[in-house]
Amino acid sequence: MTFYLSQIKQQQHLNALVHVFDDEALQRADQLDEQRLSEKKIGKLHGIVITIKDVIAYQLHPVSAASNILKGFHSIYNSTVVERLLAADAIIIGTNNCDEFAMGSSNENSSYGAVKNLLDESRVPGGSSGGSAVAVQANLCMVSLGSDTGGSVRQPADFCGVVGMKPSYGRISRHGLIAYGSSFDQIGVLANNVEDIALVLSVIAGADDFDSTVSSLPVPDYAIAIQQVETAKPVLGYFKQTLWHEGLDEEIRTTHLHFISQLKKDGYQVKELDFDLIDYIVPAYYVLTTAEASSNLSRYDGVRYGTQSTPIKEELTEFYSANRSDGFGKEVQRRIMLGTFVLSAGYYDAYFTKAQQVRSKLYNKTKLVFNEVDVILMPVSPSTAFKIGEKTNNPIEMYLADIYTVYANLVGIPAISIPLFQHSNGLPFGLQMMTKHFDEVSLLRLSHQWMKSYQAV
Ligand code: GLN
Repeated sequence: MTFYLSQIKQQQHLNALVHVFDDEALQRADQLDEQRLSEKKIGKLHGIVITIKDVIAYQLHPVSAASNILKGFHSIYNSTVVERLLAADAIIIGTNNCDEFAMGSSNENSSYGAVKNLLDESRVPGGSSGGSAVAVQANLCMVSLGSDTGGSVRQPADFCGVVGMKPSYGRISRHGLIAYGSSFDQIGVLANNVEDIALVLSVIAGADDFDSTVSSLPVPDYAIAIQQVETAKPVLGYFKQTLWHEGLDEEIRTTHLHFISQLKKDGYQVKELDFDLIDYIVPAYYVLTTAEASSNLSRYDGVRYGTQSTPIKEELTEFYSANRSDGFGKEVQRRIMLGTFVLSAGYYDAYFTKAQQVRSKLYNKTKLVFNEVDVILMPVSPSTAFKIGEKTNNPIEMYLADIYTVYANLVGIPAISIPLFQHSNGLPFGLQMMTKHFDEVSLLRLSHQWMKSYQAV
């Protein structure tokens, strides 16, 4: 524990953590030691040091979604994931910085300020779970939890050279997760290796009375399952439009193509698939998530939660408007307005209904794809970590960079980013893999295997 606390102190300038529960963590470590010695009973995560993104509720601890509107707010209950982590003897050492309400791809939209990438402090760590990725990258904890609505676990993992996994929609309870786009949001796990992710997932996944969208499918012991060797090699596939997309960095493209030839040499069957919907996925994602966000964020009015703008306005509409204008950052305001617009009577069919149609087409397409292949391979991001400030004035460019991650959320399948590659600019980048709904076992097993056989090819 003292190791992590001293790392946290040393790397404070990275701004990865927004609250550190040092005394509490030390006390809990002592308590766990005692319990181990006296009761001879240890939980699955006994002594595992974990940080959680600032969108996950931990009873009597601050949670703010990195927003001024929730400054000073303390959760009155535990999210289901926290409840399960604690019951398994984990130690929660602090909370992670992130983009405000998980909206962003660079962790620059945070009321706590930007997070720095340990590998090059002038660069972003990715987002929105940038603090979670850096916490793992800089050894501030063993495992961290993030949330992934459109790539927020996988893309920061990719930028920081760690493993990041988003399970199927409905695998992990969202009870106590501050909502962004409820039909997309999933809690995800970041770690330095696949085993740790498998272990934590086994503890936090599974049915929950507080969230009816969680599947009641039994939760396998992922940590054991990944050790078992496949009897047959899975059939792999990639969408040609993803690798030949004009926005993709040339070296990332060639590395993926080389990797695919290597896989073929090693006896894998790799199919090239067609994905003509590629140009629709980012627009559909932003229409639907902003629509959901505009509704989810309507509860922050300065009355029930959060801060009030001073001097307090007498007139009610002005009062709400002042609280929300002062409390929300620029990007969040942009998304609330966009979402309200696409839901407005005159534009509903042109935007929201259309985007829903794209989503259901994608869903059908995905079913067909998984009749042909077991695993889809894809880059995670079109570039390696960019400079802090490089894209802040160009939201469209920032949104378009989500091209490879939003698909898994639109259709709800599990996806992972594993740090297999190194760019000539010195930065890491990952390989993304996806499997069909609730096939986390195959996804984790192959990732585990490939981390051993192909890392830094
Ligand atoms: N970058 C995407 C967005 O800004 C994804 C965010 C997320 O997954 N929370 O919406």
